[in-house]
Amino acid sequence: DPSADQAQALNYVENASDASDHPAYSEGERCDNCMFWQAESQGCQLFPQNSVEPGGWCQSWTAQS
Ligand code: SF4
Repeated sequence: DPSADQAQALNYVENASDASDHPAYSEGERCDNCMFWQAESQGCQLFPQNSVEPGGWCQSWTAQS
């Protein structure tokens, strides 16, 4: 599954606190406050084939504008 591989490459974790040792992670960053979050489908624009946990995180996290 290529999109699962991509999630792995971006260090996706289902629980944002598990990313606390990642240099790109800052406290409070979660999928559901990321600009790529899709509220209606509970998914991520970067991984459209996968469901993403609202409290997850990956290194592509970007603040909503
Ligand atoms: Fe979550 Fe954003 Fe990463 Fe998608 S890009 S997995 S919504 S942190």
